[in-house]
Amino acid sequence: MDEFQDMTNHHTITRPPRIFLPENFRVTDWSSLQPWYDELLARLIQSAEDLRTWFRHRSELEAVVADDLAWRYIHMTRFTDDQAASESYRFFVEELQPRIAPLTDSLNRKAMESRYLGELQRLPGYDILIRNLQKEIDLFREENIPLFTEINLEQQKYNRIAGAMTITFRGQELTLQQAGVLLQEPDRVLREEVYRLITARRLQDREQLDALFTRLVRLRHQVAVNAGFANFRDYMFKALGRFDYTVQDCYDFHEAVRLHVVPQLNRLMEARKANMKLTALRPWDKAADVLGRAPLRAFHNGAELAEKGIKCFARIHPYLGYCLQTMREMGHLDLESRKNKAPGGYNYPLAELGIPFIFMNATSTLRDIVTLMHEGGHAAHNFLTRNLELYHFKSTPSETAELASMGMELISMEAWDEFFPQ
Ligand SMILES: [Zn+2]
Repeated sequence: MDEFQDMTNHHTITRPPRIFLPENFRVTDWSSLQPWYDELLARLIQSAEDLRTWFRHRSELEAVVADDLAWRYIHMTRFTDDQAASESYRFFVEELQPRIAPLTDSLNRKAMESRYLGELQRLPGYDILIRNLQKEIDLFREENIPLFTEINLEQQKYNRIAGAMTITFRGQELTLQQAGVLLQEPDRVLREEVYRLITARRLQDREQLDALFTRLVRLRHQVAVNAGFANFRDYMFKALGRFDYTVQDCYDFHEAVRLHVVPQLNRLMEARKANMKLTALRPWDKAADVLGRAPLRAFHNGAELAEKGIKCFARIHPYLGYCLQTMREMGHLDLESRKNKAPGGYNYPLAELGIPFIFMNATSTLRDIVTLMHEGGHAAHNFLTRNLELYHFKSTPSETAELASMGMELISMEAWDEFFPQ
């Protein structure tokens, strides 16, 4: 943790020196990228040490490519109406990804066929890497490459459609996230008006969204069938590396929630209805305070959310505060809701640089604080893994990744008075 020793000295962190690609190499077009894949494919490997070096070189190439895609994705989701940003993402998905995919498969096969692989299997992390390489080989189908391109492009349409949705309430244009905050207001008539405006706006794009959903279901089902699976669910179970639990375990969990959690939620809703003295609880009654108090305003804008979030993290541990602070200084936080921004929130790890990017649609609510704590937990995880030997070691499946993020939602609670002073 070299940056921990150094954390009082806030400066922009740069990526580590490269060992394979030239320092000034950037992803531009296929003709400049392909030779690096070809070199790895053609390279003669004559010892376990050679193979380990090969993995490190491959890791660097894949991290550089992944970070390039990451920035294209980040720009596109931050500015869904920016044609150049969409075009740059589309170029990667249409022109580069389909050419990278078969070479990645060939690299996987080359690694698995190497007679030195057994020697590396004993090194920490390599056993899991090897299991994943086998999984990737099992799932790869040439005929799925164009389907993945199409899926990627279709998915982006959702962001563009959703990012453009706004309502006009009493003369003011609001994003749906901003409008959603008004559902916490004590005035029931106002809440219903806002709720109906939001739903009407969503319904306006109903046909487009239904058609998009239908296309995606068909495409994903075809991907699964091509790879020898009965359906997309079973395909994804393998693709997501779910080696430790089964589809049946998920059904059992679902049943447990139905039996034990849903009745509790119903009781809470009954109590809400009684406390609010309502004859019928409607969708616009679920976010307001039951005692009719004004909604909590935890912060007023993205800058204040970042400032208080950093203080909150630093109180739990100085290193956690340092992570968010560094991201802020490097311009890696885009927290505030605005028009033409994709919905949702994410922490995008940037593998080569090792400093992630957090994207959110915050307004002023407690839910936004929890989201920042969550994404900040992912971010701290990325900081802590940035010096691992291989890119592959840094990308954990969601079951592991969510431990850091959901853990931070809970651990940070004791410092939430940064947002709600007594
Ligand atoms: Zn998460």
